[in-house]
Amino acid sequence: MKDKIHPKYVETTVHCACGFTYKTYSTRENIRVDICSQCHPFYTGKTKIIDTAGRVERYRRRFGETKGTKILTASQKVMLEAEKAAKKAKSRRSAKR
Ligand SMILES: [Zn+2]
Repeated sequence: MKDKIHPKYVETTVHCACGFTYKTYSTRENIRVDICSQCHPFYTGKTKIIDTAGRVERYRRRFGETKGTKILTASQKVMLEAEKAAKKAKSRRSAKR
C-alpha cells in the first residue's frame, strides 16, 4: 500500500435503531443504522412496516386515520383489484341476459 493515501481502517461498533449492536471494521467509527439483519423483515420473517422517513405518519396526517382499514401489500392490492374486475365482468355478463 502506498503511504499516507489510505484512510484508517478501525474496529467499529454499528448501532441499529432496534438496539442491536455489533462490531465490524470500517474507516468510520460508531456507525448508526436504521435497520439491520436482526430486525429486517427479510431475516425475521415477520411483517413490519419500515417507515424510516415518517411516511406512514405523514400519510395519516394528510388523509386522516383510517381505522379498521388494513394496510395492504402491493401483491394483496393486485389480488383485490383482480377480484373486483372479475366481479364487475360477472355482473356485466348477467345484466346482458
Ligand atoms: Zn436492527
